[in-house]
Amino acid sequence: MRWRLFLLTVCYAVPFGVTGSSMSVQDEPVVGLNSLAEVEFSHLSQLDPNPLGEKALAIHPEQWKHAETEHFIYHFVHGYVATPVSVEAEFHYRVVAKELERDQPPGDIKSHIYIFENSEDWRQFQALGKLEPWTGGIHSEGSLFIQRDPSYKFSGNTLGHEIVHLVMHRFYTAGIPRWLDEGFAQYISKDAHASYQRARGYLAKPHTEAIAPQEFMPLPVLLAFTYPPSDHVHTFYNESERLVRLLAETDKPSFLKLLDALARHQPLETGLREFYPTTFPTVSVLEQKFRDYASKDFGSSLQQANN
Ligand SMILES: [Zn+2]
Repeated sequence: MRWRLFLLTVCYAVPFGVTGSSMSVQDEPVVGLNSLAEVEFSHLSQLDPNPLGEKALAIHPEQWKHAETEHFIYHFVHGYVATPVSVEAEFHYRVVAKELERDQPPGDIKSHIYIFENSEDWRQFQALGKLEPWTGGIHSEGSLFIQRDPSYKFSGNTLGHEIVHLVMHRFYTAGIPRWLDEGFAQYISKDAHASYQRARGYLAKPHTEAIAPQEFMPLPVLLAFTYPPSDHVHTFYNESERLVRLLAETDKPSFLKLLDALARHQPLETGLREFYPTTFPTVSVLEQKFRDYASKDFGSSLQQANN
């Protein structure tokens, strides 16, 4: 087991082969983050029962290293690629738990994250799972499989989006509707990304995209999707995010109760009647109000919903 410590830049712009004082600090403020401590596979605290995990580790088995943090287990090739992923993973775990206003579920187990670097390995693995069209990652039974190019400067909220799915899967093991899962992942990861930018001194607000009125999908259509539709992927994600944002920002306590009800597989109609009796008593009333909210600021340069 090796215990190498080095500093990472906040921006995750980690150059190849960085160790100790060779760290590049010219473009970002430095915070002290310990690198992941490598753990031998046989010493990991938990195994991954997902058969895809075994298949991933069978691809060039000699390349995989392993590590864990409080809520996640990582399988990776280089520590300097995995460490920033672990920082984002734990950060989003805390953000989601705070947003849901709850503690760790009893009997919680760690989620496994597999980080491929080699494109050919990733292509080989991709044939085994279904890529999420928004992020290009594969989320399966509570495990996440992603490709990270070490030379790529991570940006945007795509990793955060996938981490939110992982955490939601732990809080709602029986599953939640697709629009809610994708909408919540976008809503949380966009806000988290904006607050992360603000912490670095940028003026940033969550960038939520308005739906062009002619693109708007009627609610019954949006609610029925079990997988993002290939012909309207962009609209599906943005409209789902706006719907979650409207429900959460109208009444947060009601939103959390509705989320619990939908996770128990109750119809939205029933949940609205119970938890939004005056604002959105039915799906049809919700749709009338949501249509305006979804297209708000469309075509302007200030496409931000929370103003
Ligand atoms: Zn997603």
